[in-house]
Amino acid sequence: MPTYILLIGGPGAGKGTQAQVLREKLGLPQVASGDLFRDNLKRQTPLGQLAKQYMDRGELVPDDVTVSMIRQRLQQPDAAGGVVLDGFPRTQPQAAALDALLAEFGGRVNVVLYIQVADGVLLERLAGRWVCQGAEQHTYHLLFNPPKQAGVCDVDGTALYQRADDTAEVQGRRIKVFFEQTAPLIAHYRERGLLAAIDGEQAIETVTADLLAALSART
Ligand code: ADP
Ligand code: AMP
Repeated sequence: MPTYILLIGGPGAGKGTQAQVLREKLGLPQVASGDLFRDNLKRQTPLGQLAKQYMDRGELVPDDVTVSMIRQRLQQPDAAGGVVLDGFPRTQPQAAALDALLAEFGGRVNVVLYIQVADGVLLERLAGRWVCQGAEQHTYHLLFNPPKQAGVCDVDGTALYQRADDTAEVQGRRIKVFFEQTAPLIAHYRERGLLAAIDGEQAIETVTADLLAALSART
């Protein structure tokens, strides 16, 4: 039976950073809806152009578009054993669609890892975030997780850049959207007994250790 692990947290909570580590430790691919939209944007596909209108404003891309992109990704052969989902679902309808989708694949949501970080810390994280241009979009922080050589990715050597939606104005909007539209999923998964809340304000390695401990207790 495939394993589906969900990562939930505000923008900048550390989902992508941890998903990259979990992928290596668990041998499951990381599927990040934001990465998929950015990849489409880079390739200038119609989906990328549509998503850009929402991403630039810090709003969520409509559910039907997002769900159909995730459906296609989860049907790829490398996802047959399950995935770590990063940033999806982000609304109640997306969560319902995911349940239906996983049932089709003979699976279900196994565990939801909630990386808990206060608003003020989220802003600090987003303000210093730099991302690489490689397919895996490795993530650094100017102060908390700097690359060995300034401006260059340690893993694939591509140049680092700041995301267009990491401006002060859009950051605030994204955090608000998280609390309004995504935070209700925390109670939803807690009621189903699937939630593990992790203190995301610790060092990156400590958060990883807590996530792995929560996973081994639940899978
Ligand atoms: P998300 O995917 O949840 O939006 P990221 O993984 O991109 O968040 O992390 C946001 C920023 O915070 C990045 O610059 C990352 O290097 C940094 N970061 C992630 N986890 C931690 C942590 N535990 N402590 C300090 N900085 C962190
Ligand atoms: P992220 O990379 O997770 O910070 O996402 C960047 C942007 O992509 C978000 O601000 C949204 O505009 C869009 N996005 C990512 N995931 C979703 C999702 N599950 N539903 C709707 N929009 C999303």
